[in-house]
Amino acid sequence: MSLYDMPVSSLKGFGKTRAELFSKLNINSVGELLRFYPRSYSQWGDVTPIAELSNGEKALIKATVVTAVSTARIKGGRLLSKVQVADDSGVIELVFFNNKYISSLLKFDEEYCFYGKVSRDIYGFSMTAPEFKKLSDMTDITPVYNLTHGLTNRMVITAVKQALSLLPDVMTDPLPYDILKQYDLCTLRFALNNIHFPDSEQSLEKARKRLVFEEFLVLSLGLKLLKNRKLTQTSCKMPVDYTKDFITTLPYELTGAQKHAVTDCINDMKNKKSPMNRLVQGDVGSGKTAVAAAVCYNCVKNGYQAAFMAPTEILATQHFENLQKMFSDFDINIGLLVGSMTKSKKDKVREKLVNGEIDIIIGTHALITDATKFKNLGSAITDEQHRFGVEQRSKLAQKGEKPHVLVLSATPIPRTLALIIYGDLDITCIDELPPGRKPVQTMMIDTKKRDKALAFIREEIDNGRQCYVVCPLVEDGELPLESAENYAAELMLNAFAHYPVGILHGKMKAKDKDAVMNSFSSGEISILVSTTVIEVGVDVKNASVMMIENADRFGLSQLHQLRGRVGRGEHKSYCILVSDNKNEDTLKRLSTMCRTNNGFEIADEDLKLRGPGDFFGNRQHGLPQLNIADFSDMDSLRASQQAANFILNVSPDLSNDNFKGLRGMVKLLWKSIDNGALN
Ligand code: ADP
Ligand code: MG
Repeated sequence: MSLYDMPVSSLKGFGKTRAELFSKLNINSVGELLRFYPRSYSQWGDVTPIAELSNGEKALIKATVVTAVSTARIKGGRLLSKVQVADDSGVIELVFFNNKYISSLLKFDEEYCFYGKVSRDIYGFSMTAPEFKKLSDMTDITPVYNLTHGLTNRMVITAVKQALSLLPDVMTDPLPYDILKQYDLCTLRFALNNIHFPDSEQSLEKARKRLVFEEFLVLSLGLKLLKNRKLTQTSCKMPVDYTKDFITTLPYELTGAQKHAVTDCINDMKNKKSPMNRLVQGDVGSGKTAVAAAVCYNCVKNGYQAAFMAPTEILATQHFENLQKMFSDFDINIGLLVGSMTKSKKDKVREKLVNGEIDIIIGTHALITDATKFKNLGSAITDEQHRFGVEQRSKLAQKGEKPHVLVLSATPIPRTLALIIYGDLDITCIDELPPGRKPVQTMMIDTKKRDKALAFIREEIDNGRQCYVVCPLVEDGELPLESAENYAAELMLNAFAHYPVGILHGKMKAKDKDAVMNSFSSGEISILVSTTVIEVGVDVKNASVMMIENADRFGLSQLHQLRGRVGRGEHKSYCILVSDNKNEDTLKRLSTMCRTNNGFEIADEDLKLRGPGDFFGNRQHGLPQLNIADFSDMDSLRASQQAANFILNVSPDLSNDNFKGLRGMVKLLWKSIDNGALN
């Protein structure tokens, strides 16, 4: 029987009640318990300062003996010994019964660890018959686990110790011997024993190295298999390339990179064996919408419906209007489906989708609700992909019979990371902007020059332009640096007293946000003060200035996204980065923004300067949460990708018996996010 089939409640001393506490931590089996790695380690376990002890609870204290041990014979002839010990925070009395050695074991002025139940009375704290150890003998590294109310660290330790003792004598390691040898990794048994109860710092390091590698390997394999699986399926047949008819009607010539992207997509769609599964990533303003439109056109001409999903209503509506214009010369029906439409309107659109009256549907998440059904969906396109997870993307695709899938992203990601984040997709980069685009002139100022910048903005508005002011409302419980509302109020009263100012922040309802955004689009509002919610691809061609307060608070890629909101029309545009931070690294980072407008260059720089964390922010990528590995460990990531390639070369579907264990782990990984991906 696998330890994964053994419930926690089968451990000695862990009945149903305690097992339920574990299940709150998502641990249901002994196998899962073994994979519940410590959050950190402590030389002594969790030490409580004496002043923070609470009556009736067991605790570990680290204290020095401050009195001599006094021993007396009490009623019944028993020996009672008392001694006081202290730490920086307080004093506690220890009480021992019938232990004649206490006075020789506990030496005056020496430091010990004591573990026992605390009681408190009017004389203060005391501990009766605690276990103790000389501090110098405390060499163990004790694991510290994430806990839930009612579950103590000691309970977890006891459970894990038992679980480890249940490991079978002959253990099959999911990592084949060759891989262990090649990458200098320890066995699973060693890793599990030492990740929980390390013999030494070195053993802990060895254990961690192996488990990190293993986690990355399973993730890489999972993503690659997902991609291969898609390769083995047939799809909607689109043998003819009709895009030329459409492209010639556009008011501009496609850039070389756009043409390239269209060709990649069309080739994918012609391929009879497998559906397209492609990511097109390109800088803001690089013209991804036209590529998507060409794909839609080709799909419709080949006899299928196309769906185009955007993360916000504003964006969906914008795409709807653009595509209507682009297709005005063709006999193609375009529909819009967004959450704020009335039910009867939505029903009508949905009906037209089912009976095939609508050829191209554009919408938001409304497209992936159960109520939305298609007659014959041939391609599923997702815009600003980083706003959706793997799951939502595949939900849209599931609306058809293995349709072609295209995702668009304006967040350029360095290749090494793209391989992981988008491991299941082919990638095309649009690395060229339409001609005549003036790069956004970017400058760095400190707050002393803010007034000057505001005067400049007024000038631009007087010339008919519009402008964005972004102030990061710091999330995650940090104090707001410049809260958007106060700041907007301040601007309305002073610098922009005579100009229409709008405000946009994350806590507003979607409807209210859309209303503000619409009045900015229509020009009613000249200045939009906002937190980062304008990040997503809105297109207001008349906006010419982007001022970013506390610019040092953003990652480069995020700043680049924000800057992409301006410079979308014929007007010369500016980006003003405001920061008083004089840290050398920060200045270097911000000066990258002033130096280049190339998103790929900026992404590489961001990776170098800040590590990959920013690219994985907020789990927007839809990947499963990592247990022990961390994406900043690029060496391990690279090694595991290499190993994954090697393994899939030997056995493309992992069916080889050598990889049975890995196959099981990959299955387990995807269970949570893509049901049955490997069935
Ligand atoms: P993004 O890649 O950010 O989605 P869009 O598709 O919104 O970019 O395009 C930005 C702007 O550039 C749009 O106004 C679009 O009409 C225009 N555009 C796209 N391709 C070209 C081109 N080849 N030549 C000139 N303008 C173009
Ligand atoms: Mg776009």
